[in-house]
Amino acid sequence: MKKITILGSSGSIGTQILDIVSKIKGYVCVEGLAVGSNIKLLKSQIKKFKPKAVSVNSAFDAKNLKKWSKTNNIKIAVYNGPKGLEKLAVMPSTDMMFASIVGSAGLQSVVAAVKAKKDVAVANKESLIMAGKYIMNLATENGVSILPVDSEHSAIFQCCDGEKKSQIKRILLTASGGPFYRYDKDFSKITIEQALDHPTWKMGKKITIDSATLMNKGLEAIEASVLFGVSIEKVEIVIHPQSIVHSMIEYIDGSVIAQLSSHDMHLPIQYALTYPERLPSNIKPLNLFEVGKLEFYKPDFNKFPCLNLAYYSAKKGYTVPAVMSVADEVAVAAFLNKKIKFTDIAKIVEKTIKSHKISKNISLDTLFEADLWARQYAEKIIKKEI
Ligand code: MG
Repeated sequence: MKKITILGSSGSIGTQILDIVSKIKGYVCVEGLAVGSNIKLLKSQIKKFKPKAVSVNSAFDAKNLKKWSKTNNIKIAVYNGPKGLEKLAVMPSTDMMFASIVGSAGLQSVVAAVKAKKDVAVANKESLIMAGKYIMNLATENGVSILPVDSEHSAIFQCCDGEKKSQIKRILLTASGGPFYRYDKDFSKITIEQALDHPTWKMGKKITIDSATLMNKGLEAIEASVLFGVSIEKVEIVIHPQSIVHSMIEYIDGSVIAQLSSHDMHLPIQYALTYPERLPSNIKPLNLFEVGKLEFYKPDFNKFPCLNLAYYSAKKGYTVPAVMSVADEVAVAAFLNKKIKFTDIAKIVEKTIKSHKISKNISLDTLFEADLWARQYAEKIIKKEI
């Protein structure tokens, strides 16, 4: 029985993880759950999965939850805030943590879990963008694995299982292209509704906007370079509208290995849960005759400036990817709040990274300093103070 903790269990990935846990009964048990403020959903998850501990954002919610558990005769530890997340991350009884909190808030709990020698499945992109090398080195020191949850990285992981990383020539990272890769109208007039209408994947709001600007793919390229230890120049983005090939690896001998399946997040999540085993799943079997054709296109870096910004940041390294990711987080939130135009997202990110003074001394402190600076700087641009 694998014992897991899920940080972010009320989100899009979190609920899918629990869905799979209940389908592969007897294989995984849930020790800890953390949500932000969706207490109603957490209560039903507590009843169903019987975790030993939970954590929520506010002290107020935690107090009420304690009362509720007493009244219902449920023995459970209730924590709150960043300290609460850390408590869950290091719970002695767990083997593995799923980090599926959006944004840079998830980083500290990932670091805590790795230090406590837990395998970590990372659905929280930002922590790998912000502190990728730091986390990977820490994982090696502690002898634990960092497992991908994203469909593309799971594909790459599956394509290189048992292979030598030094023999990878290129990673071919596929992208659906989002709703606008063929859009030829004015990008500055794109509305929130249009941007939220993703053709293949149903996801949270932030990542859906990132998929529309292709920043998501840029972040994924950096993530791939970190997770698989290859330079960013070796990661190539391939637009593949059918979303059937989830990514590929080209090896030095010219062989290209790909992972294909119907597009369903349940598969990569289940693989992270059961690795190194494979279990039957409920996903729709791949019918290649029904799919008919698989297309591949080069992405247009001029139309999608966020791609340039991501590669630029990865090449600069140090604190720059963190600054880029945070500036994007702030800009996307402003777009969703109707404060800026769709095309302003890339402009704000660019302005922020170009004004950033790189710190070459990488520690959690310098990374959080850079994070805070970028957050405030991007906010100032939005308020037109800069
Ligand atoms: Mg993805």
